[in-house]
Amino acid sequence: MMRSLTAASIMWALAGLQAMAQTPPVEPKLVLVTMDGVRWQEIFRGADPVIAADARFVEPDLNADVVKPVYLDPTDRPAALAPFLHGVVARDGVLYGNDDIGQCAHVANDMWFSYPGYNEILTGKADARIVENDDIPNANVTFLEYLNRRQDFRDKVTMVGTWTLFPNIVNASRSGIPVNAAFAGRYPTDVLTARYGLQAIRDHMRVVYIAFGDTDELAHAGDYDQYLQAIERGDDYLRQLWETLQADPFYRGQTTLLVTTDHGRGDLATGAWRDHSAVRYHQLNPTYQPEYNETGVTGSDKVWFAAIGPSIDPAGETGLAAGGCAQTHQLAATALTALGLDWQDFASDIGKPFPVFSKP
Ligand SMILES: [Zn+2]
Repeated sequence: MMRSLTAASIMWALAGLQAMAQTPPVEPKLVLVTMDGVRWQEIFRGADPVIAADARFVEPDLNADVVKPVYLDPTDRPAALAPFLHGVVARDGVLYGNDDIGQCAHVANDMWFSYPGYNEILTGKADARIVENDDIPNANVTFLEYLNRRQDFRDKVTMVGTWTLFPNIVNASRSGIPVNAAFAGRYPTDVLTARYGLQAIRDHMRVVYIAFGDTDELAHAGDYDQYLQAIERGDDYLRQLWETLQADPFYRGQTTLLVTTDHGRGDLATGAWRDHSAVRYHQLNPTYQPEYNETGVTGSDKVWFAAIGPSIDPAGETGLAAGGCAQTHQLAATALTALGLDWQDFASDIGKPFPVFSKP
């Protein structure tokens, strides 16, 4: 009896040692996903029945046959539109920016469109000099470039995105970050971005940034049903991505997924759910004629954030709510913290990390 117990314990000990030898050392990884111009309203309220019932934005037959049964009739409209964000991320991570319950989240820049928004996400700081979506190299250093310059991340950082400006936003020629900007000038083009994004995961990059763009284009076009479907596709892609990461020992249990948007949009009350931009932009461009002829699109500075990963505390919403407004310029420091790095080594004058990390 004694002998067999001893033998069993030795076997257990050996099995344990073998398991330890097979477990790779934990090396934090990061996947950042942005979905261009997705309103907090759709994320937290689901599809809007008033916009859907407006024949300018959804053809009545399409509303009756698709939008209503798929997105509006379910009791839980947010989950009908974005089941992964509301199922897995809200449960095991953090989903923040529900303005209806006072979760204040907005960009820090005062332009409320894409180049200023992506610059803020990636550098941790709003840059008042960026006042147009001009296709010029970003003078600022993004956290992706900072990582790519470090020996431990060199050539392990990549990005794919549905917009021709992305190579310049991350200053690809200076930063050395490969950018696959899938943009054929027609929609949907996120299909290619999604494919290249999964390829980067198969290539075992340590930091992958995937930037979707269809949502913004479809909203500008006023196709509300298509905009909704692009959000649903984006959410389903997040699910695929997360499942792929968890199925791969290189990423499993070591990878943080961060999700956000570069700006919000207006609401129906102002007639401008299709559009976005700030008063300051219109002051700088008095001849600019926005859709619905509005001066600045109220509320299009409002955004949302999602985070899930080994160091993300599912109770993180509490910390965020206690900290005042969450701002987009905190994303870069959050990403670096998730990678186990000291964000102040990148830049000390940027937004602080979101208080969503579990205490060690
Ligand atoms: Zn736009």
